[in-house]
Amino acid sequence: MRVRFAPSPTGHLHVGNARTALFNWLLARHAGGTYILRVEDTDRERSTAASEAAIKDDLRWLGLTWDEGIDAGGDVGPYRQTERLELYARHTQQLLETGHAYHCFCTPEQLEAERQAALAAGAPPKYAGTCRALDRADVARRIAAGARPAVRLRVPSDRTVAFDDLVRGTVSFHTDVIGDPVIVRGDGIPAYNYAVVIDDALMHITHVVRGEDHISNTPRQILVYEAFGWTPPAFAHLSLVLGPDHAPLSKRHGATSVAEFRAKGYLPEALANYLALIGWSPGDGQELLPLPELAARFDLSAVGHSAGVFDEAKLAWANRHYLKLAPPERLVALSLPYLKTAGFVRATPSAALSAWLTLVVPPLATSIDKLSDLPERMRLLFAFDAAAALARPDVHAEAHEPLALSVARAFAEAVSGAPPLTTKEAFRALAKQVGAATGAKGKALFHTIRLVCTGEPDGPELDLLVPAIEQAAAFAPADGLAPVMSCRDRAAAFVDALSA
Ligand code: GLU
Repeated sequence: MRVRFAPSPTGHLHVGNARTALFNWLLARHAGGTYILRVEDTDRERSTAASEAAIKDDLRWLGLTWDEGIDAGGDVGPYRQTERLELYARHTQQLLETGHAYHCFCTPEQLEAERQAALAAGAPPKYAGTCRALDRADVARRIAAGARPAVRLRVPSDRTVAFDDLVRGTVSFHTDVIGDPVIVRGDGIPAYNYAVVIDDALMHITHVVRGEDHISNTPRQILVYEAFGWTPPAFAHLSLVLGPDHAPLSKRHGATSVAEFRAKGYLPEALANYLALIGWSPGDGQELLPLPELAARFDLSAVGHSAGVFDEAKLAWANRHYLKLAPPERLVALSLPYLKTAGFVRATPSAALSAWLTLVVPPLATSIDKLSDLPERMRLLFAFDAAAALARPDVHAEAHEPLALSVARAFAEAVSGAPPLTTKEAFRALAKQVGAATGAKGKALFHTIRLVCTGEPDGPELDLLVPAIEQAAAFAPADGLAPVMSCRDRAAAFVDALSA
């Protein structure tokens, strides 16, 4: 089995195309086949090297590495279409000689006039065949005189072109609706429907798996295979990925590209796993499986043909699963850009700060959807403002309850005379002491301590938070962390603000 992913480098990798890449990859890995990356860059105005680089980077990030193609080499290259122009030209010569193709001198104005006339007459616009039967000598003369004709495929009349789509079943088209398509433009650049066939054939592609937006291209491509006397590969057209309103997923739905989901802090294994679930299910009620496991179970015939809706909430669900599995060091490394952007980490972390992050980030990451949510979760370490907290009516009311007032004062006093609460045990012991002194326990005790230390009614558990605050407060600027106020200073400020 040989399959390919053939992106046009004209923009970012859309998640729908990433899913196409993934299904090809799963198919190849399942069968021990070869997965090829080919770049279809014949649209020279819109193709860019930057887009090609970004697409390759996103594929590698997702773990969809290829065996053959751009950057990987192989026996049937080159793998970039603009490097194959000579090869297409040789094949075009062959089709012209066998009469399967012909030169067309029609001008764009002429073609547009014909199109308008057809539309006005209520007929589907289709090439009229003006140049179908030009005299060979005449053609040669016009070319010698400097004309640059296009080349069209001669489509047989009154035929049905059918194929068995591996996802959609039998699909057929009548050739009456297909006008002779341009296969090579006047400037020598081949059309997609033509280059793709030569490439797939010469690269020995056995299965073409792509988006259903290409389904109407397939009969034209099959006619090119026939013109060369080649056997077409198997085709599978995947349903499109839709937005929540069932329109194709586009910018107006929000993020659409792999790059955007990556920037939001979704893990690659979560995005890949989630994309595999759009239109396919690994079975046994299991959904969260790593790529090799998905490949082991993948079966094209189990891919549904109804459109799949991209559901970011489900992606977040998958991501939460993988955030919990990720090793602490990896989580920290992936979190750093977000912490830097938030201004929490200001320089390359010292060894001590790295150790602190390794302890603090993973538990906080168990309660977020994606890494870009982490700074919000950590904000209360850095932003403590007792007066602002007490200006909130809910916090103000709670903190002025008589029992809360005495807990706040007792906590402030105890913490001012104790060593920093850098461990859970030290914190527990001090809380117990405050409880004994005030008679407060449970929520009355711990909720007030939370208000005093963070100014917030909710947040991460105190056993984690208080030692994290105390350890962070001990860092020097050179460690790289933004300044963090100690619990002692927080409590003093809170009690001051209470009496203000
Ligand atoms: N370059 C085409 C695209 O990006 C590839 C279509 C195909 O796989 O045949 O849509």
